[in-house]
Amino acid sequence: MKFKLFSLLLLAAIAVSGQKKVCFTVDDLPLVSYGINDSAYQAAVIDKLTGDFTRNNIPAIGFVNENKLFNDDRLIPAQICLLQKWSDSGLELGNHTFSHPDYNKVSFKDFTDDIIRGETVTRQILAEKGKTLKYFRHPFLHRGNTKIKVDSLNDFLTKRGYTAAPVTIDNEDYIFAVAYKRALDKHDIQLSQRIGHDYVNYMEQKVKYFERQSNTLFGRDIVQIQLIHASKLNADYVDSLAAMYVENAYKFVSLDEALEDEAFSTEITVFGNWGISWIDLWALSKGKKKDFFTGDPETPEYIKKLAE
Ligand SMILES: [Zn+2]
Repeated sequence: MKFKLFSLLLLAAIAVSGQKKVCFTVDDLPLVSYGINDSAYQAAVIDKLTGDFTRNNIPAIGFVNENKLFNDDRLIPAQICLLQKWSDSGLELGNHTFSHPDYNKVSFKDFTDDIIRGETVTRQILAEKGKTLKYFRHPFLHRGNTKIKVDSLNDFLTKRGYTAAPVTIDNEDYIFAVAYKRALDKHDIQLSQRIGHDYVNYMEQKVKYFERQSNTLFGRDIVQIQLIHASKLNADYVDSLAAMYVENAYKFVSLDEALEDEAFSTEITVFGNWGISWIDLWALSKGKKKDFFTGDPETPEYIKKLAE
């Protein structure tokens, strides 16, 4: 009874203070397959991922690398079906370049040509739903390592009708995903479950860390943007991630709604090779020193070893 009263008070407090919000963004669509080319397996992974997003009312957006849709110059119908499934589930799609180049290592011309090349199929799939292609996600979160490169890319994106999609909850889900894949290869169920459990735990620590950063920097909870990858690990654990967010008093919002938060217009005045959270980029821009960044949760050693 006492617990019930406490829960009600907690809910009332959340209602007064305004619920915390998070947007799920998923990179490297249609799928990070780790070389498993069986199309039935791939379809099952995407069915699970998209099914869990819709069941949990998570309006996720997936960012596509269209080179995965081609075998030489021929389109692979099964790969298109994976994107179609995503769109038919009511989820959004954005451009993550054609072939995932590193903007810190290639020229502006090569990089923007790759963005344009990565538009064709995604644009068509969105058009079937009356939608337009309007979001772009930088591979490796590399915005450009000089002011000139950043400004010229921003200018290009604006002229082509794109909004760049920031990330606030940056993390190493891709390392957990490799470790998880290796455990499944060995049919080690116990190990795979341990990795999944530790993954959700790690993500919760990340959420709490970036919440603290948000409050230190802005004096409030800004809308968080979670990055994950289209992997088997996330297909199996997005349900648990959703439950973790709900327990932490979050509500799920679209990227459209997330970007209404004025925090995202905070100027970035630092340039480097980093692929880091926008919260960290804003902190560096505001002159925050090393102590601001302490306490960032680490990926456990056994996960790193497994993924080597
Ligand atoms: Zn990527």
